[in-house]
Amino acid sequence: METERFEHLPEDWQRALCVVAHPDDMEFGAAAAVARWTGQGKDVSYCMVTSGEAGIDGLEPDECRRVREAEQVESARLVGVHVVEFLREPDGILEYGLPLRAAIARAVRRARPEIVITGNFRDTWGGRNLNQADHIAVGRAVVDAVRDAGNRWVFADQLIDGLEPWGGVKAVWAFGSPLSTHAVDTTSTFEAGVASLEAHRAYIRGLGWESFDAGEYLEGMLRPQGRRLGVPFAASFEVFPMGWGE
Ligand SMILES: [Zn+2]
Repeated sequence: METERFEHLPEDWQRALCVVAHPDDMEFGAAAAVARWTGQGKDVSYCMVTSGEAGIDGLEPDECRRVREAEQVESARLVGVHVVEFLREPDGILEYGLPLRAAIARAVRRARPEIVITGNFRDTWGGRNLNQADHIAVGRAVVDAVRDAGNRWVFADQLIDGLEPWGGVKAVWAFGSPLSTHAVDTTSTFEAGVASLEAHRAYIRGLGWESFDAGEYLEGMLRPQGRRLGVPFAASFEVFPMGWGE
């Protein structure tokens, strides 16, 4: 399984929405892919379900929220993303359920994307390291919310002031999944991905990773994935088709 070749992700789309639990989630693996797509003229926007305000032990949540939202906006800008929405759900204690689905469905209805990107929501990263509860809740809710967004009778209270149902999402792609089957060549945008991760300065400092090198870290992650696509660096994704009969 580990050595199976990846297929290339399709690039015949124009608009994507990335929905992840925390500021920094995109940057640990997927930001270089976003830089590639925005470089092609595609429109990519971010939706952060939380502001990562419980992520730094030595910083009170209210101050932390402010710092991390600013870092995320800058991090996004470095890969060509100029719209970053923060849903401000509570960091660390997200629950899968109707309120989370509704919040994400509203974001999908507003952005009207063809592709929705989220992070790995499987139980592990492929080894013995367990995934984090917020990531699992968000990923599951994203898949459901994409369906909800297209149904006029689900979360119908949202359909005011011109907001319409949106059933145009062709697929949900989850980066970093141990069940990835597809990937995108990120060789030429690798450095943009590194810069985007480095923008999370306060967060990385807060983790206490004294000798953390964003370039080395991402190289260690993206090179093995590149090997499976036949290129130096790649970002891999699990693909969930959202149409019927696929
Ligand atoms: Zn996270």
